[in-house]
Amino acid sequence: MQPLRMRWQTDVMPAPPVTSAAAGSVAPVLPAPHALHEPCVLLKLGEIVLKGRNRQQFERLLHDNIRRAVRDLGIEVRVWQREGVIVLRVANAERGGYTDETAADLVGDRMRNVMGLARVCRAVRVAKEPEAAIGAAVALAAGHEGSFAVRARRRDKRFPLTSAELAVEIGARIQREYGYPVDLTAPDTTVFLEVDQREVFVFTQGWPGQGGLPVGMSGRALVLMSGGIDSPVAAYRMIRRGLRCSFVHFSGMPLTGPESVYKAYGLARQLDRFQSDSRLFVVPFGNAQRRLASTGAGRLQIVAQRRLMLKTGAAMARKLRAAALVTGDSLGQVSSQTLANITALDDAVSLPILRPLIGLDKAEIIGEARRIATLDISELPDEDCCSLLTPRQVETKARIADLRRIEARLDADDLAEELAAIAQEHTPGRS
Ligand code: ATP
Ligand code: MG
Repeated sequence: MQPLRMRWQTDVMPAPPVTSAAAGSVAPVLPAPHALHEPCVLLKLGEIVLKGRNRQQFERLLHDNIRRAVRDLGIEVRVWQREGVIVLRVANAERGGYTDETAADLVGDRMRNVMGLARVCRAVRVAKEPEAAIGAAVALAAGHEGSFAVRARRRDKRFPLTSAELAVEIGARIQREYGYPVDLTAPDTTVFLEVDQREVFVFTQGWPGQGGLPVGMSGRALVLMSGGIDSPVAAYRMIRRGLRCSFVHFSGMPLTGPESVYKAYGLARQLDRFQSDSRLFVVPFGNAQRRLASTGAGRLQIVAQRRLMLKTGAAMARKLRAAALVTGDSLGQVSSQTLANITALDDAVSLPILRPLIGLDKAEIIGEARRIATLDISELPDEDCCSLLTPRQVETKARIADLRRIEARLDADDLAEELAAIAQEHTPGRS
């Protein structure tokens, strides 16, 4: 399918465009109120609502991220910022080969991965008239066999019916029309109705959003991503806290095959669902590992390798304007992740190293990897570069002075710069 040229529009509570002044005549631009029945997506904001002065700036960032997330669909999406909610409207869906309904479904689906949203609802916009709202709510309940409940709320208190009156009226009509029983504690279906400033939103379907903060709000970071289970989860956690993340993978090439690179690519692609426009850098690390081994790193080989990865990452971070490195370390999980070794790793670079998994158990990390759909890729077989040249015994209490001595023998900082320079870039995103 040929992607359409898209026109985006952000409206912040615009005045209703009801007349065409240029023509000098009264020409309705919006459909007549009673005819309004427009599929849309209603988004509830997450933590961003707690922001004070900078809130508008963060909202703009969120709007940009919303547009990025649907860019490849070829659907024209209009973003409306309202009080505490965002409304997404689709236009010209047929040009992309969609109906308005399927377009809104697709857009809603994408929103479930956009950071900073607490809830995503696939809704219908109807006229702000009691009869239109009640009729739409009753129609929406059709086909939802089983018990139901109605939840109504008003963001505009001037609406002629109170929330309770609306709920009672809709409930009675649904019972009369379809015979479904009311159950207010554990209903099979909930019909939601929200009266807004200019229209009423009606919906039954809602999903939890990812929560967190809009990507980019906290700046940028570079994630050291192996093909393993932990680092993609660490990346997800930091993306969720508003860090736009790039990824660097160290492969054992030319001493190993390319399998770990495929895994890193697949993982970055999965993570791209949460931020869009991801960049993956692949560094062939095998020869550098061999050089470290030949300097006699011995029991320190693993920690020395990890320090060289961090130094390379720091050199790349400078060019990417990333202000932190991210790793999947979890305290004590493997022998290279003892407190002493983590201290020795921190000493390698001046950049902060973020370790969001530091206090998690392996089972918790695996659970999250499954939820964000990275686990299956992580579990594919590969030859991890760290398993190359592994000493029989790994030092659990690495001493910084010893590591620095090893590094002095091979000019580790220059080597890191060279490795950063030969990194190959991939763009594993959707579009
Ligand atoms: P993971 O599951 O993320 O591979 P792990 O439990 O296997 O982690 P280590 O192998 O000790 O732990 O790696 C610790 C961290 O170092 C990883 O989470 C990752 O951030 C980084 N790292 C390890 N190997 C690589 C690699 N080949 N490329 C990029 N980063 C790596
Ligand atoms: Mg690993």
